[in-house]
Amino acid sequence: MRGSTRTLTLSLSKGGRAAVGLVVTIGLSVGCKQAPRIPPPRLGFSAASFDRQRDLEQRFRSSVSVEELGKFHAMVTREPHMAGTDGSRVVATRIAQALRDAGLDVETIEYQAYLSYGKAITVDIVAPVATKLRVTEPASPLDRDTSHPQLGPGFVAYSASGDVTAPVVYVNYGLPEDYAQLAAHNVDVRGKLALARYGHSHRAVKLHTAERAGAAGILIYSDPADDGFVRGETWPKGYWRTQDQLQRGNGKYSWFWHGDPLTPGVPALENAARQDAARAPTLPRIPAAVLAWGEAKKILERLDGAPAPSGFRGGLPITYRLGGAAARARLRVEMDNGLRTIRDVIARVPGARRADREVILGTHHDAWTFGGVDPGTGTAALLELARTLGALRRGGWQPQRTITLAFWDAEEFGLIGSTEYAEDRRQALRDGAICYVNTDLYMNGRLDAGGTPSLRDFVVEVAKDIPEGSGTMYDGWIGSRGPDGQDRRDGADLKALGSGADFVPFQDYVGLPTLSIELTATGGYTYGPYHSNYDTRFFVEQVADPGFRGGAQLVRMLGTTALRLGESQVLPFRFSHYARKLKDFIDAASTWGGGEDRRGMMAVDLTALREAAARVAEQAKSVEDRLDDRLATSNLPASQIDRANDLLARLEQRLLDEDQQWYRHVIYGWNIYSLYDGQPFPGLAEAIRVRDAERARKEAARITAAIDRLNAGLHEVAELLR
Ligand SMILES: [Zn+2]
Repeated sequence: MRGSTRTLTLSLSKGGRAAVGLVVTIGLSVGCKQAPRIPPPRLGFSAASFDRQRDLEQRFRSSVSVEELGKFHAMVTREPHMAGTDGSRVVATRIAQALRDAGLDVETIEYQAYLSYGKAITVDIVAPVATKLRVTEPASPLDRDTSHPQLGPGFVAYSASGDVTAPVVYVNYGLPEDYAQLAAHNVDVRGKLALARYGHSHRAVKLHTAERAGAAGILIYSDPADDGFVRGETWPKGYWRTQDQLQRGNGKYSWFWHGDPLTPGVPALENAARQDAARAPTLPRIPAAVLAWGEAKKILERLDGAPAPSGFRGGLPITYRLGGAAARARLRVEMDNGLRTIRDVIARVPGARRADREVILGTHHDAWTFGGVDPGTGTAALLELARTLGALRRGGWQPQRTITLAFWDAEEFGLIGSTEYAEDRRQALRDGAICYVNTDLYMNGRLDAGGTPSLRDFVVEVAKDIPEGSGTMYDGWIGSRGPDGQDRRDGADLKALGSGADFVPFQDYVGLPTLSIELTATGGYTYGPYHSNYDTRFFVEQVADPGFRGGAQLVRMLGTTALRLGESQVLPFRFSHYARKLKDFIDAASTWGGGEDRRGMMAVDLTALREAAARVAEQAKSVEDRLDDRLATSNLPASQIDRANDLLARLEQRLLDEDQQWYRHVIYGWNIYSLYDGQPFPGLAEAIRVRDAERARKEAARITAAIDRLNAGLHEVAELLR
């Protein structure tokens, strides 16, 4: 039984709905004398159809195997396989073969992406004492993989090439407020080498802020206060980074557009029109490199100048100083940039009734090095899902709708494989895709889910149906709010999706309902070997998921989600919760204009926005009541339900602003100054951040118009089911 917590009582208003339903049922059943109807057992299913569904889901879940999952993991983590290299081609070929062996229909799609590798990178201290710094990671005898001959130095993809010798300035996280503090201390960053620590923003943002401040280059390191011994046990026993492990990654300015940096809005095919790399806004103009803290410390302890303000101090036993004079370093970066072939591998179980409607689950297969966790865990989980779905298909089962499993390439270079596919198939996705579900990686911990609010009630139901320990996966999820005093009455919520994984093009460019379903461990998504030579199978077997039991649970969650979206009679989207989230966002936005010191309070009138959100709440309720009544009475004429399903699946698209080049979602975006977090009302937030009242007024009107479009769509569904 569901509804045992206040969450569901609140969110599904079961009691109220049943009462309304009763009236309607009596109205409809004149002359056919029915008993008062029972609410549908699960969103989107009549009682009879859920009986069959329950059996199917149980068969699926019991067929998930930790042994098979572990074999898939070994298969995709055997050698380094950075996108565009031969290693990546080999892994893509193995994945395609495994999917065919599983009995799925497989397609490999190639694009020509502009990728960026480090060719020659050196970092040297030149004063006060000449010291060569290491930009590679020493191998460890504990993990044979770390001595693999194909492993190269750490580098920042899309860094400019250059040779800079300059004084070093410590810029903390490299956030705008950090540069404001430096200015307040009269530290001039122009022409200097910025030394920034990882955390609080994507590394590309650190490059961008350094570039804007006039720095000649940037070095980025992981401080133990953010990712190291200060946080907890380090590799190989725990999740945190050692003094030798550095973090690679891309420095592409993806807030202009994601995917290939030279082909916004069109697939990066052989003959695509490409921007000039010398002028593309997505590419940094200063050289950058990454260091492990063991090396960065050699610079930090030699910095002179004023002691750093308290917010700048990391976890090393030294006095952090701002620098800028005596300590000088030389950064030399030579990049190898060019078009390389990348390969998306797509597998399908075609739908029996609506092969042209699909639920898509995706992960990536390229890795900076071995991809033990990132993305080996996610790739292995999706391969095990393919194997189990294939076994069901061999046994004669076919879903109602197509279930598609996608293995994207070049995610690490900025979501390139997924974005090029979304740009390539945009119209087909808008017409036929009902949901995109992403899993980048997992670590054996609690369920962590994010996505579109219309899927919240659905994900809650699924999580409650998957046994775990003495409870269900839902218990772990709701527990993840922790003892921090957060309001739990509302139960689990989906976090707003920002950036950092392959859901972005589907949410922000295509406008699909989107989910991210993963498991996280103690440090959230931070873990020591992340983007290091040490992200290997050894680390997964030692720490991240010994025995692959977490992975098996994740496969059960993903598969149950896919089976339900693939089989439900009515799509399980609920917009009451969306209306509530809109109201929450408006409440939050009404405080944004204040500024930290309440200086020059900027008033933005949000009344029209509030009224629009209230109309959505009302309309959503009547749609939900009508849909549940139809399911309860099995009054489901196929053509009408097909039309209602298409309307429901495409409601999210009404929240896009089609005039925008790439980031089109009006409600959701990416807050680049807080790492990967989702930013509600991104346009309005930016207008208020830069204190532009006229722009803020226009943004509020743009959001109101989008919410009104959503409301009109809900009205169409309600009328259809009248
Ligand atoms: Zn990843």
